[in-house]
Amino acid sequence: MKRQINKWTFQITITGLYIAGLLLVIILNPILTYANKTTHNDYTIFHNKQLDPALAIKLDQATDLLKTSEFYNSKLQLDICLNDGSEYPQIIKTIRGPAFAWGFYDKVVLQGVANYKDNYVELNGYKWNLTQLLAHEMTHCLQFYKLGFWKSKPVANIPNWKWEGYAEYVSRQNNDQKDLARNIARLIASDKNNWEVKFEDSTIVSREYFDYWTLVQYCMDIKKMNYKQILADTTSEQTVRQEMMAWFSGRE
Ligand SMILES: [Zn+2]
Repeated sequence: MKRQINKWTFQITITGLYIAGLLLVIILNPILTYANKTTHNDYTIFHNKQLDPALAIKLDQATDLLKTSEFYNSKLQLDICLNDGSEYPQIIKTIRGPAFAWGFYDKVVLQGVANYKDNYVELNGYKWNLTQLLAHEMTHCLQFYKLGFWKSKPVANIPNWKWEGYAEYVSRQNNDQKDLARNIARLIASDKNNWEVKFEDSTIVSREYFDYWTLVQYCMDIKKMNYKQILADTTSEQTVRQEMMAWFSGRE
């Protein structure tokens, strides 16, 4: 009996490894699950349907946002995987959960329904600004490229506010988003019963990410830290928030 169980364990392990390996090959090679690929500057776009020309403009806008990051690397070549019929976004969703998009390694995977002309991705009736979504996910690719696999999330234990807050900081650069005091005031004034906070263009950000973004914005704009210093700093999230609110209340 014992030998029998050992044999099963062995077979199940081998099957599991085989499936995991197959998944990895598919994830690293989007072309296996897409009908088409189109190159735009340093981006390779994977898609099933005909490309909307407005996407190229949004990619260029996202690149301009990205260039403001100290982690920006002009050699970076990213894959942009669209949600237009391929199984690929579904596979990523199964592994990582539902989201507007995912950014990891050298890939940005859109998950919601994109409207390129009106510049948003819609998920469950909520809209996320497409240019800023692309820039957010691309920032995760920059983090990954700069810090490496072992020092990036989810492998490394980096607090969420530093990881997500920085992606928001890089991507949220509209005129109504650049001022920290205005952002904190908007967060305070928003309805606490809602999980999201709305912008002027009727797109949203989750309250959680908005909060993370203000913390990073406080460290960078007010305390004049760079992102490497923020990562190395050991001040707790709670302390940074207290400092930030003291600054907010005490300013003239
Ligand atoms: Zn993110």
